[in-house]
Amino acid sequence: MSKTRPEWSEEAIRHADDLLALRRDFHRHPELSHQERRTAEIIAERLHAAKLEVRTGVGGTGVVGVLHGDRPGRTVAWRADIDALPLTELLEAPFASGTPGVMHACGHDGHTAVGITLAEILAARRAELPGTAVFLFQPAEEVLGGARPMIEAGALENPHVEEIYGLHFTTQQRVGQVQVRPGPSMASADAFTVEVRGTGGHGAMPHLSIDPITAAANILLGMQSLVSREIPAQETAVLTVGQIVAGTKGNILPDRAVMRGTIRAFDAGVRDHLITRLGAFVSHVAQAYRAEAEMRLDGGSCPAVVNPAPESAFVRECASRELGDEAVTEGRVVMASDDMSLFLRERPGCYFRVGIGSASGAARPHHAPEFEMNEAGLPVGLRVGLAASWWKARRSRWATSTRSGAARWRGRSGPRAAARCSSRPTPAARPTRPASCGPRAMSSGDSTCW
Ligand SMILES: [Zn+2]
Ligand SMILES: [Zn+2]
Repeated sequence: MSKTRPEWSEEAIRHADDLLALRRDFHRHPELSHQERRTAEIIAERLHAAKLEVRTGVGGTGVVGVLHGDRPGRTVAWRADIDALPLTELLEAPFASGTPGVMHACGHDGHTAVGITLAEILAARRAELPGTAVFLFQPAEEVLGGARPMIEAGALENPHVEEIYGLHFTTQQRVGQVQVRPGPSMASADAFTVEVRGTGGHGAMPHLSIDPITAAANILLGMQSLVSREIPAQETAVLTVGQIVAGTKGNILPDRAVMRGTIRAFDAGVRDHLITRLGAFVSHVAQAYRAEAEMRLDGGSCPAVVNPAPESAFVRECASRELGDEAVTEGRVVMASDDMSLFLRERPGCYFRVGIGSASGAARPHHAPEFEMNEAGLPVGLRVGLAASWWKARRSRWATSTRSGAARWRGRSGPRAAARCSSRPTPAARPTRPASCGPRAMSSGDSTCW
């Protein structure tokens, strides 16, 4: 088999200027989560013009485009997230954000541009296209709040999507590099709030009050032992408090202290254990200081991104054929999260990473005001997306059985974990440890974030 498919590289070259212009237009006009109205309008216009069936307002500002090929085949979805972040851009460029305080600092402008271009190229080949291609443009990934409403609104039905694919650009890899990681790839996320209640009073007479700040401080210091003493060393998890709010003045004891944070993990058992134990821990430590405390989940939750093995192997093969074997690696797991995981819990598929790092290797982090995409990575992502969408739609040798891998991984991060996303936890089972989620997968040196 040849290493390259010239038609996809030619298509990418042919569409390169438009792809770039599209990305820059979205970059110039970023929109926050759940507010992606202009972005959604442009997506819908372009898909209409390409003669796709278009549904708008799917789960909020989501857009779904359906492209029926003229030949029989599978129904395969491509997902792109479309929202921006509350940041003020530091990059000076003609296409820099024109909206103060809002910026595409995660590459979703590129995801959106690639998704549209992918749809347009496949639409132009409709007569040869096997199967049905479904394009899901998802809002609100940055608050982990877009995938669930789209699924609930039926984005994966009519037509019934059989598999789903997508990419995330990363500055942590150079242009030309693709990472396809089977199994756990990105962590689960659970945002939480701890509220500590005491009684307020004079700072000089704490014995007449119940000090919630001292209780909160001890909860904060002690909670790390949940990771270090209760999670098996072969596993990994992160427990972070990023916000503490209490009090008004140095000599006044408040009656309330609030901490907000996030739990990250890969294994569903580890995730359940930390959620359950953190709730019990804050309550008991607060009692030791005569205060009361409770932990609640805030939404902003999703399970780990887990790529079934057969679909990962398929994408890896597509990327290798397009770019050469040396361009494709497994990459590392990352502790960041993405609600693509919810789509992957519903259908088998693969979420892979495509490099947009600089040639010098000096990476600017995602979610930073100086984030900068190396735009030469755009056509690379497009080519892999084209290859994956085209070949998977055929009932060919690429249409591999998904049962074993998908079922195996779905059992780990499935409905039980999902049920915890918006409700109080129930007593958890002891953490379990899948062989492929252990230390082999772990690295402390990966700083990719989204
Ligand atoms: Zn992000
Ligand atoms: Zn992102």
